[in-house]
Amino acid sequence: MGLQIYNTLSGAKELFVPLKEGEVRMYVCGVTVYDSCHIGHARSLLTFDVIHRYLKFLGYRVLFVRNFTDIDDKIINRAKEEGTSAKAVAEKYIEEFKRDENALGLLPPTEEPKATEHLPEIIELIRRLEEKGAAYRVNGDLFFAVDRFGGYGKLSRKKLEELQAGARVEVDERKKSPMDFALWKSSKAGEPSWDSPWGPGRPGWHIECSAMSTKYLAQPFDLHGGGRDLIFPHHENEIAQSEAAFGLPLARAWIHNGFLNINQEKMSKSLGNFFTIQDILGRHEAAALRHYFLSSHYRSPVDFSDQALDEAEKGVERIYETVDRFKHMQPGSLDAGQADAALLDEFRDEMDDDFNTPRALALIFEEVRSLNRTMDERKASSVAARARAVARCAEALGLLQEPPEDFLARKKRRWTEQQGLSSDSIEAMIRQRDQARRQKHWSEADRIRAELQEKGITLEDTPGGTLWKVK
Ligand SMILES: [Zn+2]
Repeated sequence: MGLQIYNTLSGAKELFVPLKEGEVRMYVCGVTVYDSCHIGHARSLLTFDVIHRYLKFLGYRVLFVRNFTDIDDKIINRAKEEGTSAKAVAEKYIEEFKRDENALGLLPPTEEPKATEHLPEIIELIRRLEEKGAAYRVNGDLFFAVDRFGGYGKLSRKKLEELQAGARVEVDERKKSPMDFALWKSSKAGEPSWDSPWGPGRPGWHIECSAMSTKYLAQPFDLHGGGRDLIFPHHENEIAQSEAAFGLPLARAWIHNGFLNINQEKMSKSLGNFFTIQDILGRHEAAALRHYFLSSHYRSPVDFSDQALDEAEKGVERIYETVDRFKHMQPGSLDAGQADAALLDEFRDEMDDDFNTPRALALIFEEVRSLNRTMDERKASSVAARARAVARCAEALGLLQEPPEDFLARKKRRWTEQQGLSSDSIEAMIRQRDQARRQKHWSEADRIRAELQEKGITLEDTPGGTLWKVK
């Protein structure tokens, strides 16, 4: 079948064939660094992380660029509020973003360009637009003239006349059309500014993505992504600028992830249901958040709640437990040897259908159940290839990022703390029981097992040692 991707531009799923064989060039709009990232950002970041991972799983070399918007009105306003510089605000939140990126387990992009480090490219692009008659000056500001680009509205399927008719009255009177947008803004006193042919100022928001995406990926590139909220005006304006400047498409396919609601309400600071990534990762595993988002299709809206995340965490734990159990029953055989090709094919079929992660996960969990049944019968060796395939598929989604024993040990530590027990004393009891069994003191071994069971702990003896699990 081949990979099919829903392209917002055409409104249909299309067979994905990269421009250059074996290589995918992808750009995703990054964050404006003026505040902490919230879980709406996390959804978008995880969506494109899974797309990135899956393209690599298919064997592509992926050039993935995600920018930082580090100059913007919001950053300047935040700096004024805090009595600091725009640069200091941007640096602080870039640091914080990198912490979040790491905590979420995202693969790093190939490039993470910052707008303020690409002024020459931005100015050159604006100059070209002015030369082509697609931009006009008003004092020290420069605007893009949307009526000079015939394709305006093609991504968002909006008609220019309707947009203009619907424009609010308080629109900037200096613009020729209400839909025109700033390419360059003259700076006010005390604001960050750069020299340009139009006087000191700074770039508008949209132009940086046009300049930086094509600097690193060339125009046209394969995939451009972002949240749905960016379709209009941001991505529409990126297309207008880049295509007016070079007469070539900007990107061949546009991917947009759906919105996120909190307990069926829109997330907002005023409703008090605004969660940062750090809030959430303070109370849940990153893998649980990832599993939760992946259990809906990336284009569907998602409703977020703590209970849903608890459920998602149990699912992730099941995968880890199964892999751990297999590793104990068949020591050394998870990493060496062939993975079951039929299962990998099925996984690929689901993911090739516009990254259908809910169905890919269903496949993984079905296998997890079946592997456990087989291991109950002590026949782990007969399913080694399938266990490897399950691990490979889970890894392709970013769900098995650490050794299972580490994940499970952390979960147990948290559970035992909550129960007022200690892992050490449990492990000590297991060792006592092992010794009793070696000495054939069966009643003593049974007594210890029963005592643990009373605390909510079940034991399983495997060739790789005794596993304990919380009920
Ligand atoms: Zn952008």
